[in-house]
Amino acid sequence: MHHTHQHPLLCLYCHPHSYIRMVQHLIERCLLLHMSQEQCIKALEEHASITPLVTLTVWKELQKENEDFFRAYYSQNFSPMPINEAEVFKLHQDYQQGNK
Ligand SMILES: [Zn+2]
Repeated sequence: MHHTHQHPLLCLYCHPHSYIRMVQHLIERCLLLHMSQEQCIKALEEHASITPLVTLTVWKELQKENEDFFRAYYSQNFSPMPINEAEVFKLHQDYQQGNK
């Protein structure tokens, strides 16, 4: 199916494996920032134009592979503070630079 690329990131349809790897990497960075699943989905949508469904799917895969980690992760108290947007955006740029 013909489609145009509106963002500079990898394309899910042209490079599915690389794309999923990128989403996985971004989710891992969100986990390091102690974001909830909801915050992570929102951050990736806003900063990397990743659709919530893709983020959720990759998140679930990660969770399946790392059950113990996620059990511990969910048991902690998430900060009610808003996420640090600048920090999220920076990690996105870090990734792109590292990927060149
Ligand atoms: Zn494409």
